[in-house]
Amino acid sequence: MISFSSADTESALDSLAEKITSNSYIVFLTGAGVSAESGVPTFRSVDGLWEKFKPEELANFNSFIKNPALVQAWYRHRAEIVNNVKPNRGHTAIAHMESKVATCVVITQNVDNLHQRAGSREVIELHGNILRNYCIDCGVQFDGDLLIENGETTLCKCGGLVRPDVVWFGEMLPANSFRIAEKHARKCDLFISVGTSGVVFPAAGLPALAKSSGAFLVEINTEATDLSSLMDVTFQGKSGEILPKLMSLLKS
Ligand code: NAD
Ligand code: ZN
Repeated sequence: MISFSSADTESALDSLAEKITSNSYIVFLTGAGVSAESGVPTFRSVDGLWEKFKPEELANFNSFIKNPALVQAWYRHRAEIVNNVKPNRGHTAIAHMESKVATCVVITQNVDNLHQRAGSREVIELHGNILRNYCIDCGVQFDGDLLIENGETTLCKCGGLVRPDVVWFGEMLPANSFRIAEKHARKCDLFISVGTSGVVFPAAGLPALAKSSGAFLVEINTEATDLSSLMDVTFQGKSGEILPKLMSLLKS
């Protein structure tokens, strides 16, 4: 964990704060780590009830067709976790940045809606949102919760299976969202990757795109990642501690 008494970190945060002016164009790329301090498990953390399943085994279309009730129950469980937690200081700091600079965009791989709940208005959801569901036959959004009792399967009025509006392993990202994300990565002057392991593509390719377009790259993560070597500066520590500290150092 980072120690803010460390002169190095303090001065690196200070010089980052100096780079941020009212004209800045900032992109945040966030992953499961930014929500960890809210109590949302990352895919790699142990999640009691569901310990015996690997996310890769449930978060794909074939598993859903084979056992829709099981996959729906897992998503209902995860949606309940998300509904019962609050955005943390990291989410709040990111939302606060919008009022400090000309452009601030959040590109998130998270499906938990916590950036929006923290007040961020420009959020690009690359992997969908766990609080939405739709019918795989008629495509209509399903209002209400997925069933959870007695192994029941939730069906649409048309009889079709209802699935969460998230991107599963092996599925394409929403083309429009990714196109907009790439546009921001190309145009920004500061790209801040927070709480993502940088192994899930194509999202993990966005920092390289930003860098090749001239952006300054920053990483905030509790550990080194596949993206670390690409970064101009890496802060090793919790996003809920480092981001508020950065905000407190902003000059205006
Ligand atoms: P990941 O689980 O692969 O990586 C999480 C990263 O966050 C790790 O590098 C870890 O070191 C770091 N981290 C953990 N706690 C942190 C903290 N307090 N501060 C800063 N960093 C911290 O997550 P990913 O890169 O987002 O990719 C996994 C996929 O899982 C994504 O596609 C995402 O859609 C999905 N997912 C989403 C959620 C969610 O919506 N909250 C939760 C689990 C998984
Ligand atoms: Zn339907």
